[in-house]
Amino acid sequence: MKKHTCLVCKLEGSVNLLKLPKVPTVANNSILDLIIAKNADYQQVEINQCKNCGFIFNSNFSPNTNLKSFSNNNSEYLKNIFAILLKNGIPNKKVIEIGGDFELLKIFKQNGFDVKGFDPNYQGDMNEIVKEDYSESFSDFNPGLIIIRNSLEKSIDPFGKIKEIAKINKYKGKTYIETSNFEWNYEQKSFSSIFNARSCYLTQKSISMFFDECEIGLLGEGENLYCIAETAEVLELPHERSFQKYSKDNFLDQFEQFQKTINKHEKFIVWGTEDKSFAFVQFCDENKTKIPFLVSTNLEFQGKFVPISGHEILEPNKAVEFIVAQELPIFIPNFNYFEEVKSFTKEERVRIFTWQ
Ligand SMILES: [Zn+2]
Repeated sequence: MKKHTCLVCKLEGSVNLLKLPKVPTVANNSILDLIIAKNADYQQVEINQCKNCGFIFNSNFSPNTNLKSFSNNNSEYLKNIFAILLKNGIPNKKVIEIGGDFELLKIFKQNGFDVKGFDPNYQGDMNEIVKEDYSESFSDFNPGLIIIRNSLEKSIDPFGKIKEIAKINKYKGKTYIETSNFEWNYEQKSFSSIFNARSCYLTQKSISMFFDECEIGLLGEGENLYCIAETAEVLELPHERSFQKYSKDNFLDQFEQFQKTINKHEKFIVWGTEDKSFAFVQFCDENKTKIPFLVSTNLEFQGKFVPISGHEILEPNKAVEFIVAQELPIFIPNFNYFEEVKSFTKEERVRIFTWQ
């Protein structure tokens, strides 16, 4: 298959929306060891939109990369999905998940469902996970629900994968797909939250091409989307639907914002470890010349390092002492952290700024 061939309609001819030279395959995950962090795997990402069907894909995707799934596993978030699925009706008490991280599957298990998961690279301790791809040899299980959660994006043939799963399942039960919402990122003019390597970037329209009828909804603040359909609704050929043409200029603002901020300031600290902070330091301070470290109240990040750039992430109390002594300003990519920073710096005179 040629590099710019659309993953769905298999035609050539696409518009480039974004090129990112070094995207870590571990995405927004901090790494315990500095050397490993600095040598983290990365890919060059080229996000293109097909001129024929509107599908958005990464023309530089390497299918051999062992990508991790990045799902929102906040307990309220998962409970909400569980409720949506129950309300939608599941024909029997058997559920399978293909790829993904199986956190939603655990909720079904806890609620008395008979569950099975499939992932050849699984390394966790759930006995119900088969370390194989889902295939005909498992077709007797007859699940009432098939979960595909943030794993379609690891396939170079996402539509083919949905069709294959439906066929193995004899077009029975329901299919639930969850993915990040490209439209949300586009509206935010932010590439930082798509700062990980995937084969495709789905929208409400593009996911609906695969089904004759389906229910589509947004999750979280709209950054993720879901699709629920009767498995029998999976189409043989994708629907030809009208689609929005995305502009290649959309993401330029963020590059400019990044550059202005890094150019305007000498040494400073970044407060926060959300996607945008990571993308910023990886992109603008790869050699750690301006930003000595990041600060986070999140225990999962503290004491670890940002992949590729190797910036250390410190806990606030330790960091504030250094910041005050060195008179370093604090940059908050997300202004919601303002009160948090104030609560840690207290009466000290510390300059706080956000994007330029
Ligand atoms: Zn296409």
